[in-house]
Amino acid sequence: MNIAFIGLGNMGRPMVLNLLKAGCQVSVFDINTAAAEALKEDGAFVAGSMEECVKGAQTVMTMLPAGEHVRAVYLGDHQGGVGLLKMVEAGTFLIDSSTIDPASARLVAQQAHTLELEFVDAPVSGGVAGAQAGTLTFIVGGTDSGFKQAEEVLQHVGKNIFHAGKAGDGQMAKICNNLMLGILMSGTCEALSLGMDNGLDPKVLSDIMLQSSGRNWALELYNPCPGIMDKAPASNHYQPGFMSKLMLKDLGLGLEAATESQSPIPMGTLARNLYAFHNAEGNELRDFSSLFEFYRKPSK
Ligand code: NAD
Repeated sequence: MNIAFIGLGNMGRPMVLNLLKAGCQVSVFDINTAAAEALKEDGAFVAGSMEECVKGAQTVMTMLPAGEHVRAVYLGDHQGGVGLLKMVEAGTFLIDSSTIDPASARLVAQQAHTLELEFVDAPVSGGVAGAQAGTLTFIVGGTDSGFKQAEEVLQHVGKNIFHAGKAGDGQMAKICNNLMLGILMSGTCEALSLGMDNGLDPKVLSDIMLQSSGRNWALELYNPCPGIMDKAPASNHYQPGFMSKLMLKDLGLGLEAATESQSPIPMGTLARNLYAFHNAEGNELRDFSSLFEFYRKPSK
């Protein structure tokens, strides 16, 4: 399988490594040339441009920060640059795994179909650890045939592959998931901090809650208190992982969707505001579990 992969950050890099391990030929591109060069020794072909990267590829995968980057890459930037929809060969299959607004995903899908290209949105859940282990959950939006094609590629990088519905529905499901994650991470930080303020050992409290009704993904795999889980970003100076600015973006996408559908999301809005305060204090590039420090300030 011949794959072009664009966007080699915290998630893209380990996904490429798993594609290479599965025997795929992978050509890579990132505007951060160092991120692309770093994959050379692992067997990736490092392209000097997006055009060179997608040339001859059967499948193109993208893993970019936000909707504006996805629109720029697929449709071209505002200065009239050409997007990859106009660079790929007929029959190339397109998968975007970034987390973005459903409207941008639908726009790209519609433009792709106009050019007789198949495109699916396939955002992921599972974090960097899931990307490294090849156990990501993919949430696909697109046609039935697009979903079938996507499964063939995504099985090399993920474990659970869901068809959420039509174009953009993968993004909508992912936004709902991350709304819940933002709320659960905030709640986990809050409960651990309350326990510590009242003399509890956070490790003992974590063990108790893990076997009780407060159990959740953040507590299980991503404890936000330093020193409890060796591999969690909290025990590595909150190095991402999943940057706080990306969590704020995702909670903002939840708010946009809720405004559109007139749905009440008081918990999600509160979590979004917590991340807005936290990021304004210079934590944008740190892992999203660093919200724990918000609760431990100023003199605790
Ligand atoms: P990241 O910022 O680490 O990586 C994004 C990469 O895209 C960067 O290397 C950047 O240089 C590159 N890029 C940006 N614009 C580009 C362009 N025009 N052409 C080529 N490359 C370009 O972000 P990440 O953590 O890897 O996340 C990527 C996406 O996955 C985001 O939408 C995020 O919300 C989502 N996501 C992240 C995690 C996580 O745990 N990090 C988990 C699930 C989903």
